[in-house]
Amino acid sequence: MSKILIVEDEIAIAELEKDYLELSGFQVAIEETGDKGLEKALSEDFDLVILDLMLPGMDGFEVCKKIREEKDIPILMVSAKKDDIDKIRGLGLGADDYMTKPFSPSELVARVKAHMSRYERLVSSQHKNNDLVEIRGIRIDKTARRVYVDGIEKNFTTKEFDLLTFLAENPNHVYTKEELFREIWDMDSVGDIATVTVHIKKIREKIESDTAKPQYIETIWGVGYRFKV
Ligand code: CA
Repeated sequence: MSKILIVEDEIAIAELEKDYLELSGFQVAIEETGDKGLEKALSEDFDLVILDLMLPGMDGFEVCKKIREEKDIPILMVSAKKDDIDKIRGLGLGADDYMTKPFSPSELVARVKAHMSRYERLVSSQHKNNDLVEIRGIRIDKTARRVYVDGIEKNFTTKEFDLLTFLAENPNHVYTKEELFREIWDMDSVGDIATVTVHIKKIREKIESDTAKPQYIETIWGVGYRFKV
């Protein structure tokens, strides 16, 4: 369940926001001062913060700035004064949205949902960019095109890397040399299926502790190769 933190000293407003957000399926916490709000925002995992500007103790400007130094969760700032919105924008605090009081609770919920889904998309695309394949002692970072064997980086040529990654991503599947050649090499590239054998040998020298008894890429005699899990 997504968690929202409301930092608001007008408790009636905070409670109203909380009720509407809970009805929409969110889990909500309230803090009434800037200091406590900041502490909670940094020490717990929230998916979004609704931050009032005028607060006892540390004001919303400062709280926003300090949250942003640590976290990239969406921050929705609210203020009673229209002028403040220009100020928030001008200061470049990193707030994602601004609302002027009074606002309708349904508008608040709609904006919260929009920011939340945008943030989720952002987070999941970041995960995709850092695509890792991990099998036992082998870690393949597809984005950086790096391979680590028991934590030690090994250098691979482009085709060796592609071949290892392909096999590791399709573990336990037996591929013939012809299939691997078609998969990894361009159709018009010079070479034949013997190229596959040569590359498998080179990969094994880098990942296996004993190439005579391969633990990762297994030879299936008369058929081809498979990556053992
Ligand atoms: Ca206030």
